[in-house]
Amino acid sequence: MEVIVARTAGFCKGVKNALEVTMEAIQKRKEGESLCTYGPLIHNRQVLAMLEEKGVMEQNDPALCAGRNVVIRAHGIPPQERQELHRLGAVLLDATCTRVARVHGIIKGHARRDFHTVIAGDADHAEVIGLMGYTEGRGVVIDRPEQVDDLPSDWKKILLVAQTTQNEDLFRQIQERFLIKYPAGIVKNTICGSTHERQAEVRELCSRVEAMVIVGGLHSGNTVRLAGIARECGIPTFHVETEADLDRREMAQYALVGISAGASTPNWIIRNVVKFLESIEPGKSGAHKPWKSVLDGLTYSNIIMALGAALLPFVAQALAGLPMSFSACVMAACYAFAMHSLNIYLDGDAIRLNDPKRAAFYQRWRIVFTGSSVLAVLLALGMALERGVVTFLALVVLVILGVLYAVPVVLPAQWRHLSAFKIKDIPTSKTFSVPIAWACVAVLLPHLSDLSASAGMLLYAWWIVFLLVLVRTLLLDFLAFQGDKLVGRETLVVLVGEARTAPIVTGLSGLLGLSILVGPILGLSGPFAVVMLAAFTGAAWHLRPLLRKGLKDDLVSEAMVEAMIIGSGLLGLMWKVLVG
Ligand code: SF4
Repeated sequence: MEVIVARTAGFCKGVKNALEVTMEAIQKRKEGESLCTYGPLIHNRQVLAMLEEKGVMEQNDPALCAGRNVVIRAHGIPPQERQELHRLGAVLLDATCTRVARVHGIIKGHARRDFHTVIAGDADHAEVIGLMGYTEGRGVVIDRPEQVDDLPSDWKKILLVAQTTQNEDLFRQIQERFLIKYPAGIVKNTICGSTHERQAEVRELCSRVEAMVIVGGLHSGNTVRLAGIARECGIPTFHVETEADLDRREMAQYALVGISAGASTPNWIIRNVVKFLESIEPGKSGAHKPWKSVLDGLTYSNIIMALGAALLPFVAQALAGLPMSFSACVMAACYAFAMHSLNIYLDGDAIRLNDPKRAAFYQRWRIVFTGSSVLAVLLALGMALERGVVTFLALVVLVILGVLYAVPVVLPAQWRHLSAFKIKDIPTSKTFSVPIAWACVAVLLPHLSDLSASAGMLLYAWWIVFLLVLVRTLLLDFLAFQGDKLVGRETLVVLVGEARTAPIVTGLSGLLGLSILVGPILGLSGPFAVVMLAAFTGAAWHLRPLLRKGLKDDLVSEAMVEAMIIGSGLLGLMWKVLVG
């Protein structure tokens, strides 16, 4: 089955900001300080469970927030509750979305001038309850155009606003009826831009696909509206919370399906729905696509990642004109596989949030993965020992650093005030440690004995492989952004934000291209650099639209990122075999 995922699917700005405010508060929390959220931060069980694990509980009663740090979620709260929380000594961390706050201001300004306010929205929704608080008791909520007829005709000053996630068509109908009844009434379309784009994209997608799947809480108002819009377009629509709500046989009737999601649906849930649908062979009673299962298995078991690492030494050997070495490939693959697999168990929080299915897979195969990782380390160390004691010791250091990455390091007594720390807590450590380690194992370690003879060429090859793996890591960090952000892992993408990642990746790719170009000019590499530059330019050109539109957290994006490393390695291998 072919799947088109809406560009606007997933967290909106307000929800992202609320999560960021909460995570920052967790990191800055001092000993003895208590932190809670006023109402559920978002409608997602995994995220709420993660917050609970970090001691951040949801509270709905102001009395239970007394003296605590309290996060106000994106929906905002009525001013009366805000005052009550202040009176009780709560410290408010206000994550009210700026677009919701703007509506508060509009209602407040009109209420002061004795206006009645009509809100087109769901009366029970937290945002609408907050909006009602600003109407000074002259507010009414409606959700159907006919309800305009029931409003008192003698209201002279009257304002109509919308819940920020209201269905645009419905609001238009309410507005038309409202202006017929109250020609002097004031209408403010307060549906937020993010909602507008999301709904417009669903309408557009419906004209291109056979069926729509809308992902998000069954009680989430904005998700329900998206499903309603898709149904109005006249195509079969499935509103699901997870892929478990979809029937494989039923979905097999469709060859092309569109997917969108509500404003508080995390990427990993959308990703799992995409994976599920892509695995269906259309017209075959929901049979699995065999190649999809194989690809999933290879990705989950880290074999694709290890294959990329295994091929990297060929890039260095082709660039620096060094002899071909298969044992270097085995050493690089074993190291990358072992460190990656072990760190999943030592630092599994982000995976649990980014991809719970994958986390469950690793949990099920824990013994197999830890056992094979230990064997892989032993094999890599054996290969290193064959190359000499210095290579062996260098690999031992890299293995220790790799294993210690997520383990608390106990500091000597005189540094106790710094408390135990983990290497992973150093900002951007994940982004840079992987490329440094991979480049060392794939390029320097196998050729330590040649270092004095060809130091310039080896360091040049190290730099190229480092940049190549750095671009890969940045792109994968981009895909894992939400989970990393939630567990407080400060990758470069988390530090600079998603929006600035694309220019950084473009800049690094330019630096990589330039570095490949100057290699032959400075005599640091052979003619392979020219071939690599041509292939790299082609790949970068191909990836350009993907970066411009924004990478999606899906299997295709992940496969394309890994293909960049595997492709470079295969090119190096072909060069060594054909040219030598
Ligand atoms: S839907 Fe719009 S207004 Fe509502 S929280 Fe998200 S960005 Fe803010």
